[in-house]
Amino acid sequence: MAINWPELRAAAIDAASRAYAPYSRLRVGAAGLTGDGRVVTGCNVENASYGLTLCAECGLVSALHAAPPSATNGAAPPLLIAVAVVAGDGDPLLPCGRCRQLLLEAGGPALLVDTASGPVTLADLLPASFGTADLAARRDQAAPPPPPQSGHGSQLLHQPQGATAPCQTSYH
Ligand SMILES: [Zn+2]
Repeated sequence: MAINWPELRAAAIDAASRAYAPYSRLRVGAAGLTGDGRVVTGCNVENASYGLTLCAECGLVSALHAAPPSATNGAAPPLLIAVAVVAGDGDPLLPCGRCRQLLLEAGGPALLVDTASGPVTLADLLPASFGTADLAARRDQAAPPPPPQSGHGSQLLHQPQGATAPCQTSYH
C-alpha cells in the first residue's frame, strides 16, 4: 500500500492542534495508517499530576483498538503500517522510549516512522526490543499455586488517645 506521508503528517498536525498540554506547552499529535487503509490519530493529554501525562501515541494506539474492525480485517486486531508524530510546529518528533514499545506491539518492527530525514523502521528506533514472543518463551511454565487466601475482613492496629499500648480491632 502506498503511504501518503504528507496526508499522514497533516492528520498528525490536526491532532496536535487539539492537544491538552498546558504544563509543557509542547503540543504533540500522532497519526497512524492501518494495513486496511484507515487513519487513526491521538494527541498528548497532560495532567496537573505530571506523571499521569499521556503521550499522543497512547491516544493513537487506543483509537486503533477502539475503532470497529473493518470488513476485510475480520476479528483480527488492526495493525499500523506507518506513523507520523509531530510537535505543534508541524515538524516530526520522534516517539519517546515508552511509545516506541507501545508502537512495537501495534505495528511490529517493520512499522515505518516519519522522521525529518524520511521514514525509518521501528526496528531502527527500538533495536533488541522485548516483545510478545519473549513473554511466551520465557514465562514460568510451572507456575506456582496462588497464595493461600487469608481470612476475610481486615484488622486495624490503632492507639486510642490516652492509651499506653496499641489496640487491635478486627472486622469480619
Ligand atoms: Zn511517549
